Amino acid sequence: MAIDDSSSTTFFAPWPDRLRHAAIILLVAAIALSVLVALSELCIAAAALVPWRLHNAVTSREDVRGVNPVEAAAVSAVVAGMPDPAVLLDRAGRVLHLNTAAAQLAPALRKNELAQFALRSPEIITALREAIATTEPRRATYLDHVPVDRWMELIITPVPVPTLFGGTDKCMLMTFHDQTPLRRVEEMRADFVANASHELRTPLAALSGFIDTLQGPAKDDAKARERFLGIMHTQATRMARLIDDLLSLSRVELSAHVRPDTSVDLVPIIRQVADGLEPLARERQVAIEIDLPEPPVTIPGDREELLRLFENLIENALKYGASGGRVIVSLVRAVSTEGAPEVRVLVRDFGPGIAPEHLPRLTERFYRVDVGDSRAQGGTGLGLSLVKHIVNRHRGRLLIESVPKNGATFTACFPQAKPPQSA
Ligand code: ADP
Repeated sequence: MAIDDSSSTTFFAPWPDRLRHAAIILLVAAIALSVLVALSELCIAAAALVPWRLHNAVTSREDVRGVNPVEAAAVSAVVAGMPDPAVLLDRAGRVLHLNTAAAQLAPALRKNELAQFALRSPEIITALREAIATTEPRRATYLDHVPVDRWMELIITPVPVPTLFGGTDKCMLMTFHDQTPLRRVEEMRADFVANASHELRTPLAALSGFIDTLQGPAKDDAKARERFLGIMHTQATRMARLIDDLLSLSRVELSAHVRPDTSVDLVPIIRQVADGLEPLARERQVAIEIDLPEPPVTIPGDREELLRLFENLIENALKYGASGGRVIVSLVRAVSTEGAPEVRVLVRDFGPGIAPEHLPRLTERFYRVDVGDSRAQGGTGLGLSLVKHIVNRHRGRLLIESVPKNGATFTACFPQAKPPQSA
């Protein structure tokens, strides 16, 4: 049976066979090309639509942050009004708002720039990345060295900001908290414990050394025993004194905020201290000259603390200023720099004095100009610190003046008691 394909070949019929095949291929290729062109135009149209949608998304965010003037101004005002340095970031870490304190602390922080570039510490960058990823608060330490060392704790808190379309946009609130005073107190406490234990360990080691010697090699040596017992007594006294000073210091510190209100007469207190130190003065061949007024000089004070204060000052003058041969203790009435009447007790010696670089540090705990000399004199390094605390509790001032080779003057200034109101 023959198949009639005359209809499909009618158009190409007069063409030779090879030409007919080539024409069919060309036609198919042309159709395919037109389909491709149509498709690619569709793609371009779709691609053109994408930025338009993205742009819409950006503007919707802008509506929330930037363009909506009321909300933006309110957020900016809240950040500006925070007492600590504060920065509001978007979820990429870009700065949206920052207050003046933050700009001063980290001048590299700029609006619309990434905070990661400004705060280049790896710890901060990790904390920021984690806060963004987990939407949980993160903490890091920010160290500032100019103009002085400062330790800041940085807290990154994710804050969901509602958008105009009912969703939430995640922002990061970064606040800095100054930990420097706490850090310093911690350092001081650690130093204090280290110093106190060192001061106690030294006489304790000497005591146990002598006990071993007395139980061993010097067991039957009566002369050595006598000498060693003398040294042990000195060391035990030193430990007792140190513990005494430590306890007094902590007592005064505990009551630092409560100003003493009992009226005390300074004249008999100073006399009692000077009389008590007469044996030491004789031993050091120093004459104590006392220049006190006759009528009572009263201030609101704590008698025990004032005894301790004058004892420390006069004893120091006798110990460290002995070479001068005399110590003058005087009391004068004066007027403070603020114009308020005050009572000043001056303890002056004529010894070697103190070099100016030591003066600002003399009232620090355990600070000594010459550690060996202080220990040899039975000092603990706590006396002037105690003096300063007592003066402070009495709302007074301690002045230290010294001319090297020409002695030192320690002046305790106390505000004068107000005269009784006449009825
Ligand atoms: P210490 O127990 O060592 O006497 P203080 O706190 O009373 O401790 O005094 C601290 C240091 O101040 C002393 O070690 C001494 O070096 C110095 N100092 C105190 N008073 C005088 C003084 N009148 N003259 C010279 N140096 C003094």
